[in-house]
Amino acid sequence: MPLAGNGGYTVRRYTLDFDWQAPRTPFEAGATIDAAATQALSRFDLDFAGNTLHRVTVDGAPAGFVRAGDELAVTPARPIPRGHAFTVHVAYTADPTRQRHRDDAIRDYGWVPTPDGTVVCAQPDGAKMIFPADDHPSLRAPITFHVTTPADIGAVANGRLVSTTKLPGGRVERTYDSEQPIAAQLVQLAIGRFRVVNSRGPHGLPVRDVVPDDLVGDTEEYRSLTPEHLAWLEQRLGPYPFRRYGVLVGDTELPVALETQSLSVVPKDDLLGGRVQAERNLVHELTHHWTGDSVAIRRWSDLWLSEGHARFYERLYSDSHGGVSLDDAMRDAYEQHDQWRHDDGAPAEPGAGTLFKVMRYDGSALVLYALREKVGAGVFERIEKSWVSTYRGRAAGTRDFVDLASRVAKQDLRPFLTAWLYGPHTPPMPGHPDWRVDPVED
Ligand SMILES: [Zn+2]
Repeated sequence: MPLAGNGGYTVRRYTLDFDWQAPRTPFEAGATIDAAATQALSRFDLDFAGNTLHRVTVDGAPAGFVRAGDELAVTPARPIPRGHAFTVHVAYTADPTRQRHRDDAIRDYGWVPTPDGTVVCAQPDGAKMIFPADDHPSLRAPITFHVTTPADIGAVANGRLVSTTKLPGGRVERTYDSEQPIAAQLVQLAIGRFRVVNSRGPHGLPVRDVVPDDLVGDTEEYRSLTPEHLAWLEQRLGPYPFRRYGVLVGDTELPVALETQSLSVVPKDDLLGGRVQAERNLVHELTHHWTGDSVAIRRWSDLWLSEGHARFYERLYSDSHGGVSLDDAMRDAYEQHDQWRHDDGAPAEPGAGTLFKVMRYDGSALVLYALREKVGAGVFERIEKSWVSTYRGRAAGTRDFVDLASRVAKQDLRPFLTAWLYGPHTPPMPGHPDWRVDPVED
């Protein structure tokens, strides 16, 4: 995603207005972007792939704009001096059927329609279909959502419900605040007929599930496990880093779950099948709240840090909760690791089209497993806790992880991890001299 993100300014807050009408129906939307210029700006870019763009203002004055592909170039009436705060407003029509496709674990992304509304799966670079953004995984800002719907339709977004206001004409406006800064790829905006199911996690953490009315009972068994999952992960990764959590049950055909911040979307089928697979998916998305959401990645090639950790803890949990043993899963991954290197690139060397392939999941969980075998379980646990606490609320990359692991383990792990993360061949697995890699087939 070479054009993701922009230069010359920092977003301080997005305020998004969505005037929802009906499923699969375009509607009017507005985005107000409070930003600060980090250099003098006669022109700046936003990432935008929405529908009709009506007008752009900067500090209230009409601004020039040109759309080229997914870039929206804005020319303010007067240049913005370096260091100055400025406010951009973009009025546009949003189309809640707009999607793109990837041939990897992401599949369809952007707006994901449901029978009576929508959910949003923006990862990796689909936020620009929802709102104009500085869309890069390392960049975060708080978001305020104002969502207007018919009175019988609910709306939920990341963070806290601030207010619900009945409007003349029978419509309702809900305001949500993300509470903590959020990367554009992790936004959630769910619209439909929902029940909001409130409960408590460890230390009284508010847990808010958002469930289509007719799925409340059938999904309750697995949704009710969230406090156990939180407690299990807190033992290994330290305190949960956000102010609330919950599961949004997606009434979608898309079989993809996503770690949308403070409200993971999990497709209904994941919660209506067997327990082992349901818990794997629930623990995976929850783990991302430590690694991926709280500790953001610096660049897309660091994705192995986000997905590798989520898969590692998903498998570690499943090992002691009725699933495949971690050793068996990792031995299986080890056997295929050279093939995955060949097909998908080494763990920290994805291609644009192989980003969300199996190498970033089991292939990267295997790197963490190898590290644990090398340094021992106790040191590994200290590395992990140090990683999520040191970089809490910040972006961090592969080198940051390698350096931190070396510091905590009191040994230079660069040669070891560099071979695993970038090398052309899978290194020997510490502690398992009998493990063999299958030959590569073209
Ligand atoms: Zn994931």
